[in-house]
Amino acid sequence: MPALYDPLNALTPGSGEPHPPSYWTATAGAAPPDDGAVPAAADADVAIIGGGYTGLSCAYHLARDYGIHAMVLEANQAGWGCSGRNGGFARAAIGRHSYAKMIELWGRDTARKIFRESLAALQNVRDLVRDGGIDCNALETGHLKIAHRPGRAPALLREAELLQRDFDYPAEFLDAAELQQTHIGGTQSHGALRFPDAVAVHPLKLAHGMLALARASGATVHSASAVTACTKSGSTHVLTTPGGTVRARTVVMATNGYTPEHLHSCVRGTTLPVLSHIIVTRPMSAAEKNGSGFRTGHVLTDTRNLLYYWRRLPDDRILFGGRGLVTDTLEGRAQQRDFLLAELQAKLPALRDITVDYDWWGWVCLTADFLPHVGCAADDPSVHYALGYQGSGVSYALYAGKLLAQRIAGDGPVHAAHPVMTPLPRFPLAALRRHGQRALYYWYRWRDLSG
Ligand SMILES: Cc1cc2nc3c(=O)[nH]c(=O)nc-3n(C[C@H](O)[C@H](O)[C@H](O)COP(=O)(O)OP(=O)(O)OC[C@H]3O[C@@H](n4cnc5c(N)ncnc54)[C@H](O)[C@@H]3O)c2cc1C
Repeated sequence: MPALYDPLNALTPGSGEPHPPSYWTATAGAAPPDDGAVPAAADADVAIIGGGYTGLSCAYHLARDYGIHAMVLEANQAGWGCSGRNGGFARAAIGRHSYAKMIELWGRDTARKIFRESLAALQNVRDLVRDGGIDCNALETGHLKIAHRPGRAPALLREAELLQRDFDYPAEFLDAAELQQTHIGGTQSHGALRFPDAVAVHPLKLAHGMLALARASGATVHSASAVTACTKSGSTHVLTTPGGTVRARTVVMATNGYTPEHLHSCVRGTTLPVLSHIIVTRPMSAAEKNGSGFRTGHVLTDTRNLLYYWRRLPDDRILFGGRGLVTDTLEGRAQQRDFLLAELQAKLPALRDITVDYDWWGWVCLTADFLPHVGCAADDPSVHYALGYQGSGVSYALYAGKLLAQRIAGDGPVHAAHPVMTPLPRFPLAALRRHGQRALYYWYRWRDLSG
């Protein structure tokens, strides 16, 4: 079966495509207006490629905080990429490393700085939602990282102790009995690490809210405006779109997992787009709710390397997501949907008769060092980027957009020794990224079955 779309091969993710038929699309209501396709020719101070949380937040902060006119160029619709199709877990998270690994890599002070920034990013979501009056069903909750096998619980206890000791953070360890009594039952609830801070949101409504805020502040947001070429004439960037050409002094790559490999040299060989698939079930019956012991409103992940993430939605449906496919094929999509349902039922056997009403997928962005990066091209300080959220970008992408705006306006903070602010690394043997991913997935699957 041939692959359908892969950012590593395609020049753009489409042109004017509608949002995928997800639960979020079905419940978001009408999108606020945008500025349509780029007219024949246009000038902007800053041209931002990508209309997700990163691009919209950057445009909003440039306009509101610095009076700089930004033009967002989105291939499809605002929020069409990950921002309109994620699980809606806004968490304090930066990159993929465990907290112990952060201390090992950077020392305690830098690890603490990164952790504080992840909390600031989460607070930024709350502030945007409150101050911007964004109606995105935001719910203050917590996050539980659940031991999917008994042998994984002791590491969670150690992580809770480390968070309390080294980060002054009130994380808690819940043993299996407490977890099952208070939050969720089933066969794979062997204890949990509880983070008291998380916000559950409707991700597409949040993207719509950011679109409206950006435009109200003075930015323009163009849909159906895929950038197919990005060249430079003197000090002016020239971006080609189907509707017309945009000339700008500064360019921002805000394309994350949808970054076209060949659009600009500063991102070539730096991203690994990875598929993540979500199912949403029909609402649970009263018997299913009791049988599964699914009481919690917390957002949930487990201790797998190829982790599952799930939450109970306000209408008693379950959203359940995970990774697994390397390439996007029609056959693979159908298999992944069935596989995810079987995995949910293995966790919660009381849901043996539950059915799936929606499923969809998107491209998450990994980087070679498992960290997001906010920076600019080595050979051209007028080309900026923020990407690589490792599947945890609801809060950090919005925050990174703000950091980008500060950098572009020359208004720091540029955090000298901050690992997120270091240059985006290239993958070694970049041409073999997909082969490496396949090998890693085999290894991860094997590891997830042990311990
Ligand atoms: C299934 C799934 C579940 C997820 N769940 C969570 C979660 O629960 N919590 C969490 O924190 N994170 C989650 N994430 C990750 C999170 O959604 C992303 O990190 C975040 O939305 C990234 O935002 P962004 O604006 O950088 O990128 P995106 O929202 O992906 O936006 C990039 C945009 O760039 C556009 N683009 C690309 N190329 C071009 C071009 N040439 N011209 C014009 N436009 C272009 C694309 O069309 C796209 O709309 C999930 C991701 C997926 C896929």
